[in-house]
Amino acid sequence: MVENLRDTVTPPPPDLAALERSALEDALAARGHQRFRARQIFRWIYRRGVTDVAAMTDLPVEFREQLAREFTVTSPVLVHRERSVDGTEKFLLRLADGQRIESVFIPDTPAMTFCISTQVGCAMGCAFCLTGKMGLIRNLTAGEIVGQVRVLATALGMRDTKFNIVLMGMGEPLHNYDETMSALRILADEHGLALSPRRVTLSTVGLLPALERLAREPIMPNLAISLHAPTDATRGELVPINKKYGVSEIIDACKRFPLKRRNRITFEYVLLAGVNDSPADARRLAKLLSGVKSKVNLIPLNAAAGIPFERPSDEAIDRFAKILADHQLIVSVRKSRGRDIRAACGQLIVEGPRKSPAQQLAVML
Ligand code: SAH
Ligand code: SF4
Repeated sequence: MVENLRDTVTPPPPDLAALERSALEDALAARGHQRFRARQIFRWIYRRGVTDVAAMTDLPVEFREQLAREFTVTSPVLVHRERSVDGTEKFLLRLADGQRIESVFIPDTPAMTFCISTQVGCAMGCAFCLTGKMGLIRNLTAGEIVGQVRVLATALGMRDTKFNIVLMGMGEPLHNYDETMSALRILADEHGLALSPRRVTLSTVGLLPALERLAREPIMPNLAISLHAPTDATRGELVPINKKYGVSEIIDACKRFPLKRRNRITFEYVLLAGVNDSPADARRLAKLLSGVKSKVNLIPLNAAAGIPFERPSDEAIDRFAKILADHQLIVSVRKSRGRDIRAACGQLIVEGPRKSPAQQLAVML
């Protein structure tokens, strides 16, 4: 009986907007179509933002009809859009199964930046992060990760504008490794958006096995490590996964990480008053990073209800930054963008049916 049941289940049609080009070529060939059609379909979906197969006018009409029968095209649906006084825009998107995520546009950093999610929620449970409080609801697919970029580029009229991508929205990208990397390959495809991996920054808490795997990828984004403390004692309190992958192992992996000339690993450091912001912490951090091609991005905590920490005073932030600079480190202090619309780092969380869901927002300087 079970066998019979299995025979009758037809798999759902593949999604044209979720496949890498090579997989799309295979899917087309398996249905008796020419492989080169994948290039045309990529141009329509990613360059022109057209997802209605019937409107892909350089494809033969009969082929378009077959495509519509044999494939689907799924896009996140834009539910709500909110603009901050500083120009940051938060987009609430609904996925095919009803889950909601947010993506953020941060203008003039000086680049234009899209902050993109890789998961609904996050399993890592960092103590200062609202997304961490949600737990992991599910991974996003490559199509949903790239879909955020498509929807933002169209909504902002930016399909012909260069932009950067930071994987600093909701979720831990290396905890959803395969779909995240597949999304980067789709974004980089020469017949699609042709987005250079240099324009992409992946931010991670440092899942070591995945980090080692990333080091061997042909498509290599810029790397940002969420460090937040120079010792295992403090980091272990803030970032639970540190108990598995500790500070010195992460730093060693960073030293081995293949970097292009002039490229550096960014170390993100959320500053928490009285927890990790002392001059001694700054000196320990400087020592830890000596010998790493690094730059440090200090992120004063974005406080929120339910987060048991406080943002340090401006004086404490400046003092911390100065000690790092005095030790020859490159330091920047992240400006908090979009705070009035709860789009800043760590301010985002799915709060229930009435409110916007939310996700981590990344903010480049
Ligand atoms: N999961 C990945 C990427 C998403 S979080 C990571 O942790 O790196 C993006 C950045 O926002 C991380 O550096 C994270 O530590 C920071 N962040 C999280 N909560 C924050 C808060 N409340 N205030 C300031 N930054 C926060
Ligand atoms: Fe997850 Fe990053 Fe938030 Fe930690 S800071 S809980 S890894 S999203």
